Amino acid sequence: MTEQAHFTRVEPERVARLLADLARVLTPGQVRQDAETLAAYGRDESDSGEFLPDAVVFPDDTAQVSAVFKRCQVHGVPFTPCGARSGKSGGSLPLRGGLVVSLERMNRILAISVEDLTAVVEPGVITGDLMRAVEERGLFYPPDPNSWEFCTLGGNVAENAGGPRALKYGVTRDYVIGLTWVTPEGEILQVGRRTIKGVAGYDLVGLFVGSEGTLGVATEIILQLIPLPRRVMTALIVFPSVLSAARAVSAVLAAGILPRCLELIDDVAIAAIVHRGSFAFPPGAGAALIVEVDGNAQEGVLAELSQLGAICDRQGATQSLVAQDDSQREKLWAARRVISPALRALKPAKISEDIVVPRSRIPEIIERLKAMGAELGLTVATYGHAGDGNLHANILYDGPAQRPLVEEALRRMLLMTVELGGTITGEHGVGHAKREYLALEQSAALLDLQRRLKAFFDPSGLLNPEKMFPAPKRS
Ligand SMILES: Cc1cc2nc3c(=O)[nH]c(=O)nc-3n(C[C@H](O)[C@H](O)[C@H](O)COP(=O)(O)OP(=O)(O)OC[C@H]3O[C@@H](n4cnc5c(N)ncnc54)[C@H](O)[C@@H]3O)c2cc1C
Repeated sequence: MTEQAHFTRVEPERVARLLADLARVLTPGQVRQDAETLAAYGRDESDSGEFLPDAVVFPDDTAQVSAVFKRCQVHGVPFTPCGARSGKSGGSLPLRGGLVVSLERMNRILAISVEDLTAVVEPGVITGDLMRAVEERGLFYPPDPNSWEFCTLGGNVAENAGGPRALKYGVTRDYVIGLTWVTPEGEILQVGRRTIKGVAGYDLVGLFVGSEGTLGVATEIILQLIPLPRRVMTALIVFPSVLSAARAVSAVLAAGILPRCLELIDDVAIAAIVHRGSFAFPPGAGAALIVEVDGNAQEGVLAELSQLGAICDRQGATQSLVAQDDSQREKLWAARRVISPALRALKPAKISEDIVVPRSRIPEIIERLKAMGAELGLTVATYGHAGDGNLHANILYDGPAQRPLVEEALRRMLLMTVELGGTITGEHGVGHAKREYLALEQSAALLDLQRRLKAFFDPSGLLNPEKMFPAPKRS
């Protein structure tokens, strides 16, 4: 489906003048306009439809990124950065056409320092490649979005990505200490530091991380690392119902145990995994938790896992399966990673939200979501990082005819999340998909302040337009 009619596209003459000018700074191989490329870079993983760019450019270094941005400003052509286009909120979609600026060729790991516990990377490095490279040296880069096998660190920084390990180790923001930041006008700034501590000046790194490619582009990223924990244990704990599993999550955390992951899988998600043939759950499994604990001493890790298991037993767990080696651990995580595509196979259509509530409210939100699904006649699946309150709530439906009902369910879901003290997105970002819902959570004054910040960095508004903030009301 092509949905470009909603947005005013840039005039073709401007693009033609820009492309002629870009020939001075980029080689012909760095500019693509063939139909296949335009279609591929007009989509991401947000199910938002297709928005074709006029051209895709592939700069090799910071100077080229800056030169491209400066020329876009001269010719008045919108430009939208992208990494691997695995985003789930439409952040990389070129809604007004113009250029997509792909950072994928800037994919070198520039340095890993065992002494300083830091790494310096280009933005197009695949997250999993950095994880493996540092682990070979006994170091650990904890942020682990489930897309780590294909997403890029630049995209992670822009979205402030998190994953199962965020419960104990935090999210991307906690590891980014410095950046090379190319502003929308093409200025090149070094922000942040190379040291673990440092408080000089405003925290511009903090502002940039999570800015969803709307304030500029990171062309070099300095990350802090930590030592790799020597022992890790993973277990699957089975419950009769999603409520008992959710209560177990609260009980574990209230007991002062901080596993590195505490992932919830509800009955619908279990059915989807089984349907796909990816994992055999014991009969009667109504929900499951994947738990992972780590540390340096085997006895300590084992003791923590036993204590956690005992708490789950008291909450009604029916079975625990402890992975005995890395291949069994990987099998458990593979079952977790397959949930999203497996749910897609259950019904013709689905939307996936990543709401967050205070952890103590997890049982309540799950109960309310299931009741809402029953009332509206929609299937709701909930799974995800329950340990930190971040749930992927999915609505499965039969197709376009049910879309108005789904919109109603979505609005209710986000409203109840905010009512419970939560937030509409824990890791996927606002982007294009959720911009009209941000006002449910943030005041008009706060939205206005952020719009002014955007205008300060990007007065022409050409960088990644029509994202994050609700569209101004048209009279
Ligand atoms: C199966 C699957 C599982 C996922 N699981 C998770 C998960 O567990 N946790 C999670 O957080 N996300 C998850 N995601 C979402 C997605 O992978 C993340 O948002 C990821 O950070 C996007 O990276 P990307 O390289 O694909 O960026 P893109 O999708 O290409 O871009 C995302 C945003 O970043 C901007 N951007 C890209 N590069 C730069 C740069 N160098 N400088 C400035 N802005 C830039 C773009 O303009 C866009 O706004 C998942 C996605 C899929 C498909």
